[in-house]
Amino acid sequence: MMEFPATRQSALQRLDEFLEEAPHYAARRNHVLPGHPQVSRLSAAIRHRLITEAEVVEAALQKYPFRVVEKFLQEVLWRGYWKGWLERRPWVWDGYGASDAAMDPEVAAACCEVAAGRSPSGIMNHFARELLATGYLHNHARMWWASYWIHHCGLPWELGARHFFRHLLDADPASNTLGWRWVAGEQTRGKTYLATAQNIRKFCAPELLEQAGGVGLDEHVVARDGLADDPTVDDLNGLPELPNEAEEPDPQRRIALILHDEDLCLETSQAAPLRPAVVLQFVPEPEPPPSEPRAQWLGQARADAARRAAAHFGCEVRVCRTPEAMTGACVAEGVGSVFLMEPFVGPLRDQLREWPADLLTRGISLGRLRRRWDSVLLPHASRGFFPFWNKVGRMLAKSGAEGLS
Ligand SMILES: Cc1cc2nc3c(=O)[nH]c(=O)nc-3n(C[C@H](O)[C@H](O)[C@H](O)COP(=O)(O)OP(=O)(O)OC[C@H]3O[C@@H](n4cnc5c(N)ncnc54)[C@H](O)[C@@H]3O)c2cc1C
Repeated sequence: MMEFPATRQSALQRLDEFLEEAPHYAARRNHVLPGHPQVSRLSAAIRHRLITEAEVVEAALQKYPFRVVEKFLQEVLWRGYWKGWLERRPWVWDGYGASDAAMDPEVAAACCEVAAGRSPSGIMNHFARELLATGYLHNHARMWWASYWIHHCGLPWELGARHFFRHLLDADPASNTLGWRWVAGEQTRGKTYLATAQNIRKFCAPELLEQAGGVGLDEHVVARDGLADDPTVDDLNGLPELPNEAEEPDPQRRIALILHDEDLCLETSQAAPLRPAVVLQFVPEPEPPPSEPRAQWLGQARADAARRAAAHFGCEVRVCRTPEAMTGACVAEGVGSVFLMEPFVGPLRDQLREWPADLLTRGISLGRLRRRWDSVLLPHASRGFFPFWNKVGRMLAKSGAEGLS
């Protein structure tokens, strides 16, 4: 049965199980098979930090020499690379959010058909339905499906990315937005990704193709033009500083700790030594709401995180739906300092944008924390992936990932 671990314990178990197969990952990872046995299926757990990249990397390196698992480690590092890249160019996220591609009713209707699995391509319809039913697609299927959407159906990538974001259990602002931009040819100058029937037949299990009713791609389609030479993408002037690590809390003041979906394992984070009076779990209600599988997965993962936080910090964990509710809870508890794991570019950061100023007017200070993994590795994600990998891969090969959590 296909499973996507939604608790820390089940994610650690899946990691153990997957590592048995990890030496074969490089050869098998591109194949799309029923149940996806040859990939880890840990992306939702890693994206929400039920387990961390550092833990995954360290476990792989404890078991195998670096070169045996290098391909797997590279893939794990792609998430941080995309995050670091977007962190330096937040306007790419803002521009995508502001895109008005959905305004044309004909385009919107065409998107609904492809997204619902009612397109001329059998295999793309299969992937469309798999995404709706499970909240997961294999990486190769994501590439094919995004390419089909953009280059074969001529639909705006922004709407495809929003559809993915609503449905994927692992929906990640950086990996998703930049993955779609890459397929559209807007991420890497001169590179556009076009799905072909030949490639799909090579990597997709024959039984899936048969069940789906074949590939059904028009072989004459050519990729749409890529990057409209966007100078801001390479303009690194005015690079925003990444926040520093933990600020020293004032021991005289009562502390509240914020638990949110970007880091569901506070007890292994920089926040672990704090002694909060209360943990406030920020659970906003996004518009549009997440799909049912995603809402269910998040519900389990949040409950698991809250249980572990209550046990570790020995205090109540209270759910708050809005920043105002968190301020109210802090005032009611007589809190003087609030600590949170700093969110990355994306919806959570957008929702909390005005909040520090609100806290300040109540005389409450805010300490932003960041895992060592992020503060040590992400600054290297300034240009392409391989320059990034050359630096961080060497670091990991030499010293492992222990201490980077
Ligand atoms: C158009 C498009 C959209 C995508 N959207 C997302 C998204 O919203 N969230 C997301 O987590 N990933 C996204 N990806 C990346 C990738 O497809 C998934 O991370 C991967 O398929 C998850 O499956 P897995 O855990 O079984 O991967 P494995 O093959 O087992 O990989 C191990 C881990 O490495 C990381 N990883 C692997 N490939 C990538 C990659 N290309 N980019 C970033 N991290 C990677 C993940 O944390 C993953 O769990 C997207 C890719 C494309 C092409």
